[in-house]
Amino acid sequence: MAVNEGRLWQSLMDMAQIGATEKGGVCRLALTDLDREGRDLFAKWCKEAGCTISVDKMGNIFARRPGKNNDLPPVMTGSHLDSQPTGGKFDGVYGVLAGLEVVRTLNDFGIETEAPVEVAVWTNEEGSRFAPAMVASGVFAGVFDLDYGLSRADLDGKTMGEELQRIGYAGDLPVGGRPVGAYFEAHIEQGPILEAETKTIGVVTHAQGQRWYEVTLTGQEAHAGPTPMEIRHDALVGAAKMVVEVNRIGLSHKPFGRATVGLLNVTPNSRNTIPGKVFFTIDFRNPNEEALTAMDAEMRASVAKIAAEHGLTVDLVQIWHSPVVTFHDKCVGAVRNATQRLGFSSMEIVSGAGHDACYINRVAPTGMIFIPCEDGISHNEVENATASDCAAGCNVLLHAMVEAASA
Ligand SMILES: [Zn+2]
Repeated sequence: MAVNEGRLWQSLMDMAQIGATEKGGVCRLALTDLDREGRDLFAKWCKEAGCTISVDKMGNIFARRPGKNNDLPPVMTGSHLDSQPTGGKFDGVYGVLAGLEVVRTLNDFGIETEAPVEVAVWTNEEGSRFAPAMVASGVFAGVFDLDYGLSRADLDGKTMGEELQRIGYAGDLPVGGRPVGAYFEAHIEQGPILEAETKTIGVVTHAQGQRWYEVTLTGQEAHAGPTPMEIRHDALVGAAKMVVEVNRIGLSHKPFGRATVGLLNVTPNSRNTIPGKVFFTIDFRNPNEEALTAMDAEMRASVAKIAAEHGLTVDLVQIWHSPVVTFHDKCVGAVRNATQRLGFSSMEIVSGAGHDACYINRVAPTGMIFIPCEDGISHNEVENATASDCAAGCNVLLHAMVEAASA
């Protein structure tokens, strides 16, 4: 039993017409008219494949193919249809349409699974129009409450609740509490590892934990000419040393540590005044929670030492901690088994990005399947994947879901 590669590819290309950009990418921001068009097309295809459609209050869509025993919790797959402003044709969409292709293939082969099969579309995964990312799968998993989710607003002040009403996807199902027997998400890797290792399938075991910080250093503004070097409290010199330390900490936690200062504001930012204040951010990631904690401790010690050397006061706040995600043994095993049975080259891999699956893992056994993307590039209009890799990942998804839905 195998999926239809040409049909999957055609569906991906048809969906990519909705919000198509001149450079071959896609702009389909969450809860815009284009998002509605994409959702409508998905729902139409699912109905044609014999599924029933339901929508919850966050606009999450569930397309259900009945099983022999409809009292069993469904085996679910899915991802997202929204994109970045200069996004590609595969991020998210691939996981949704791979789910649809699984349903179509089960129909082709006349397979009746024991448990029902569902394909989910999670609202606003990207977090581009409405922050934060993965907000609707987060509400589903109890990470955020419903009011918080619906009140997220875009830059024009329009809320998710209002926009769901406007596009007709404010459903009536409660968000979450829906039993899920197992959840699988297929996704492009969005990184360079599978391509570099020439592997077709990434069996995703973990997703990186993250800690985000905001740091404000306060020294003393003074004239750049008359103030001797020895008595300065230069906040930017302190910050510069800290940036180097953050980078050193990332490098010292090989191979998975990631450490980034991506934003830095200098006050007063004037060429002949010693900087009195600097604000900057730190983004730490690691798939090992202990190592992430160690990075935190090393950074705090370094920041304190550098601040003391330069007579700076420090305000250091951790604004976010997303713990390491360990996907479920049963689901990772089902992906591994399917990959081996089908004879695809594969490797175990850690997700560097967040996905809806990371939240769903909190409420249901979850696993992920990665396929390579060209040059590891994603969140970009040139994002690309091959039809044969898309089909390979979809075949693994099919067999993993059938195994989970008959158990
Ligand atoms: Zn995605």
